[in-house]
Amino acid sequence: MEWETVIGLEIHTQLATKTKIFSGAPTEYGAEPNTQACAVDLGLPGVLPVLNKEAVSMAAKFGLAIGAKVASRSVFARKNYFYPDLPKGYQISQYELPIVEKGSIEIELEDGSTKTIGVTRAHLEEDAGKSLHEDFHGMTGIDLNRAGTPLLEIVSEPDMRSAKEAVAYMKKMHSLVRYLGISDGNMQEGSFRCDANVSVRPKGQKEFGTRAELKNINSFRFVERAINFEVERQIDLIESGGKVMQETRLYDANKHETRSMRSKEEAMDYRYFPDPDLLPVEVHAEDIERIRKTLPELPDEKKHRFAKDYGLSTYDASVLTASREIADYYESVVKQTGDAKLSANWVMGDLSAMLNRDNKDIADSPVSADMLGGMLKRMQDNTISGKIAKEVFEAMWNGEGAADAIIDKKGLKQITDTSAIEAEIDKVIAENPGQVEQYKAGKDKLIGFFVGQVMKAMGGKANPGQLNELLKKKLS
Ligand code: ADP
Ligand code: MG
Repeated sequence: MEWETVIGLEIHTQLATKTKIFSGAPTEYGAEPNTQACAVDLGLPGVLPVLNKEAVSMAAKFGLAIGAKVASRSVFARKNYFYPDLPKGYQISQYELPIVEKGSIEIELEDGSTKTIGVTRAHLEEDAGKSLHEDFHGMTGIDLNRAGTPLLEIVSEPDMRSAKEAVAYMKKMHSLVRYLGISDGNMQEGSFRCDANVSVRPKGQKEFGTRAELKNINSFRFVERAINFEVERQIDLIESGGKVMQETRLYDANKHETRSMRSKEEAMDYRYFPDPDLLPVEVHAEDIERIRKTLPELPDEKKHRFAKDYGLSTYDASVLTASREIADYYESVVKQTGDAKLSANWVMGDLSAMLNRDNKDIADSPVSADMLGGMLKRMQDNTISGKIAKEVFEAMWNGEGAADAIIDKKGLKQITDTSAIEAEIDKVIAENPGQVEQYKAGKDKLIGFFVGQVMKAMGGKANPGQLNELLKKKLS
């Protein structure tokens, strides 16, 4: 039997406001426990929530960016449940009337094609506090610093058909919220996390299968692994005569398995009702227009512009626009070199390899866009060869200064003096009569050997083009 996977994601992204969604307490991460929670966040009696306007603007900005409807009127509701990190006994969220409805984004698949994924809704809500189990023996600590932090919950349609598509969607959303400046997207700090809803059905069947919800996944790698594990589990279960239960499961990255947490609650279990402490949120047409004007160039627009203006492949364009920082870096290098392809090769090649190796973000790159551009200019004016450039790049990376200073200090300037190159060629030819004979007998590949020998003798500094040309002349 062939199975088809169906996935829908609920992404929680923390909005980058300075203060909480219903109080003036700061949202900064990493403070001493319970130092950033005021009476409202603690759920003390007699206090009232006051909506943070900035959070509403950010949600609206997101709605516009995904081509969704931004509701002129939306309503906050109480979602009732009991948990130690939720002192009020309810979470303020949006239920029947969310602020954003019916949008979509485009994802890129591995074969270069694109697919549109529907976004059902995005609603504003407050985060809960945190239960701390470590450091406490036989007790649990409660930190309410996170309580009341504004979240935008983005709910997708069940449009994804593989773990890879889910990862592509999550990455695209991550890139989008960062482009928009509405979230720092920091996944280690929990500012961007997702629940994955997964089901399987026999290929060709119209109805969806029963889904399980995998909770709180905070890395791209884990989302892929958790979904793949869950798909296998469900297929095995059904094929051995069992039935998938609608339930909430937890992905354990250490054991690489999903475990049942609880059977899935239904909406009625939460006894949702409009929060009488908060007025409905009204967003007027003028507000929408004002917010629309603050929209930056979006990832897809940038991608298409890069492909068109710089003559890049769709793949290259999507890599170079994956984040605003990479895109800005790249454009600043191109501005200096005037060579889009050369610049793209270096940003996607050596630069990103080093960033990966040292686990660094482009914002913390020891080689700035100016430095890379400066070095590429020395390649373009033939001061250094592409091979030496790699050495210069490495030295810049290690903090030895700008390209010109390194080329000077290390004497890396390319040798373009014909007679100096010829002298070395003559020596190599004289020292290797056997290879010369073979070359003349038709073993063309030996040209590489001669190039290598001369380069070695000249410390890699001979101009490669000249060297090749002179060698061929001498050997013929
Ligand atoms: P809830 O409010 O219980 O979490 P929703 O109807 O809002 O349920 O759906 C939550 C998510 O589950 C959405 O992203 C939706 O696309 C996804 N989803 C719904 N049904 C399925 C299914 N059968 N298989 C996979 N995902 C599903
Ligand atoms: Mg849900």
